Amino acid sequence: MKEPDGDKKEMLDRNLLEEQLCELPLYEYHFIDVRQLTFTQRIRDICRTECPMYGKSWACPPGTGTVEECRQRCMAYDKALLIATVTEVRDIADIQETLDTRADHEEVTRQAADLVKSQTGNVFVLSSEACAECESCAYPNEPCRFPERMNPCIESHGILLTDTLEQLGIEFQYGGNVVTWFSLIFYNE
Ligand code: SF4
Repeated sequence: MKEPDGDKKEMLDRNLLEEQLCELPLYEYHFIDVRQLTFTQRIRDICRTECPMYGKSWACPPGTGTVEECRQRCMAYDKALLIATVTEVRDIADIQETLDTRADHEEVTRQAADLVKSQTGNVFVLSSEACAECESCAYPNEPCRFPERMNPCIESHGILLTDTLEQLGIEFQYGGNVVTWFSLIFYNE
């Protein structure tokens, strides 16, 4: 798990970043204060009982650490860029069709993160994936092989994102067959 190094802090030119973000296929983006995030053990319990990836990757719990460790990792930054992409699918109940939309979201997340990083020098990214960088994850016997490319999913850090979306009045269900993915790009302004 990569930790924030906190070096090379620079002022973020938000206008420039917004111009660049407008070039990406984002449905929406918001700049949030990390204090607007809710961390809860409840999400972690859902991971443990319902997700087949639990305990299989450094990008998933318990490999990501305790909820408190995850909270501290995120709170080392003061801001986060919340981005969302939407994709219409034929049938949202078709899990494979829904999951197939994730790769495009991850690519857009990487591009957005690169834009933020080019100004701030350091970012920490949470996205939608359990990490699919390697055919077989090194977890738990060896360290992650590509910590710079591994972006844990938002839930892996115990973040109840719907709470923040509701607080901010952000819509997160856009219709019957529309898949919505979110990512958080943490940075210091
Ligand atoms: S980059 Fe490879 S080793 Fe690291 S979490 Fe992803 S799959 Fe596992």
